[in-house]
Amino acid sequence: MRWTERQRLMLEAIGIRVWGPAEEGATAVAEAAPPPEIVAAAPATVARIGGPRPTGVETMDWPALRTAVADCRACKLCQGRRQTVFGVGHERAQWMVVGEAPGEQEDRQGEPFVGKSGQLLDSMLRAIGLTRTPEDAARQVYIANTIKCRPPGNRNPEPEELAQCEPFLIRQVELVQPRIILAMGRFAVQSLLRSNDAIGRLRGRVHRYHGVPLIVTYHPAYLLRNLEDKAKAWDDLCLALQTFQALPNA
Ligand code: SF4
Repeated sequence: MRWTERQRLMLEAIGIRVWGPAEEGATAVAEAAPPPEIVAAAPATVARIGGPRPTGVETMDWPALRTAVADCRACKLCQGRRQTVFGVGHERAQWMVVGEAPGEQEDRQGEPFVGKSGQLLDSMLRAIGLTRTPEDAARQVYIANTIKCRPPGNRNPEPEELAQCEPFLIRQVELVQPRIILAMGRFAVQSLLRSNDAIGRLRGRVHRYHGVPLIVTYHPAYLLRNLEDKAKAWDDLCLALQTFQALPNA
């Protein structure tokens, strides 16, 4: 894989060093990426546990879905939220990023991936030519979380909460119709793929979520604490880009 000088600078911004001269060099890990192997996730089983979740989520348009999420009190996470965190980006983006749950800053600002982890995500996206700022659908991403309300104290989301909230994400995927999904973080990945495996066992291959190719990688907040895994995250971005470029009409 060849990198322009601009891409090299972006890679350095996320802590990845590229060996070799610009336009000629290649990261060994990128060149060595195996052919994508497609693994289908098991179908979802969603169990109701609590209060009223709006009905008809599966046929809602964007305004109705936003209102339904904002009004949702289907699990106990509604009790501690300042606001729901719905999602941002181009509503027909070709790329979709799915994270875990809002943290304190997201809960305050109402937007996923803000603060330092959001800045790292932006740098990672820029490194492969994508952005969350207004752009055309081919360059912009749509970003959402599997959980729309902040778990108190940033605790791990519970399986029932993930199950209650997933219909909203499924509808977002149906409306965006992304060509590829990048799933970030253990709880997002395990929830989407119905797996208890660690990210290390799930990354490096192409999964599917509701028919859409899905690539697994680490959450930017984790990468900020574990700098040594940034190179693996870069491998994952390369696999995602390789998979996207291999799609028909990419
Ligand atoms: S986390 Fe999801 S299911 Fe639970 S109250 Fe918030 S929007 Fe509803």
